Amino acid sequence: RGKRAFIAGVADDNGYGWAIAKALAAAGAQILVGTWVPALNIFETSLKRGKFDESRRLPDGSLMEIVKVYPLDAVYDSIEDVPEDVKANKRYSGSSNWTVQEVAESVKNDFGSIDILVHSLANGPEVTKPLLETSRKGYLAALSASSYSFISLLKHFLPIINSGGATISLTYIASERIIPGYGGGMSSAKAALESDTRVLAFEVGRKKQVRVNAISAGPLGSRAAKAIGFIEKMIEYSYANAPLQKELLAEEVGNTAAFLVSPLASAVTGSVVYVDNGLNAMGLAM
Ligand code: NAD
Repeated sequence: RGKRAFIAGVADDNGYGWAIAKALAAAGAQILVGTWVPALNIFETSLKRGKFDESRRLPDGSLMEIVKVYPLDAVYDSIEDVPEDVKANKRYSGSSNWTVQEVAESVKNDFGSIDILVHSLANGPEVTKPLLETSRKGYLAALSASSYSFISLLKHFLPIINSGGATISLTYIASERIIPGYGGGMSSAKAALESDTRVLAFEVGRKKQVRVNAISAGPLGSRAAKAIGFIEKMIEYSYANAPLQKELLAEEVGNTAAFLVSPLASAVTGSVVYVDNGLNAMGLAM
């Protein structure tokens, strides 16, 4: 049978998660997605109404099939962690079993196992604030949603990830170089995510021969990136200064993810791979 992938962080057809889903589907994988609870309704409705049909098209002409959409909120590990006001919130009370532990259980009940786990989500409520102006609460929220969420997903899914399986998360160069404007502790969250990529690669490699890698992606005008406020400037900067002066396509990140989770990359783990038209290698913008 083909491989089965669970991709956390797909809520429209613009982001990296969607592009990764497509690249994996094109390679023959069965696609399950985890969609942030508040975005679930609109995503499922748009899917059903055919709004994404054009962007579902794969190179062979067929349409990507998303076998199941799971509601997910990756800042909650289990139902005991969910505060009362969130439980009572209309957008949340309309669905159930969306904590990380419950989603892993549901996937286990529905499909038994997976081969590929993708983490393509981030959230920093104070991302527009400089680090110096970031509150403790905002900083910890950025780490919870953008870094610990990967640890939690891996921990809860590991029992159902087949030996030889692989995981991918998405990071950004603001973890290691100064990118003014990428605030709210998001730069710190990406630094944690990259460090965790190495430590977790060791732990789950030894435990289960599962691989853990991250893609450090260049700028893309996704929904999340637009919330930061200067994504158009970043895209222009990259176009002007990167070794490859071309638009960075989400598809290029999707293709690299498909490579990294495939047997072609069977000796690659604990790596952060740049997919950014080479911008990271520049020392002086030209
Ligand atoms: P996106 O908006 O497509 O993806 C972010 C997703 O995270 C959204 O679907 C959102 O609903 C989901 N999400 C937020 N909080 C969540 C939670 N608590 N539980 C579950 N889901 C939650 O945007 P994107 O830019 O494609 O982001 C995907 C990944 O790529 C992120 O990790 C991001 O930091 C990374 N990245 C993006 C860029 C860029 O320029 N767009 C560059 C480098 C890295």
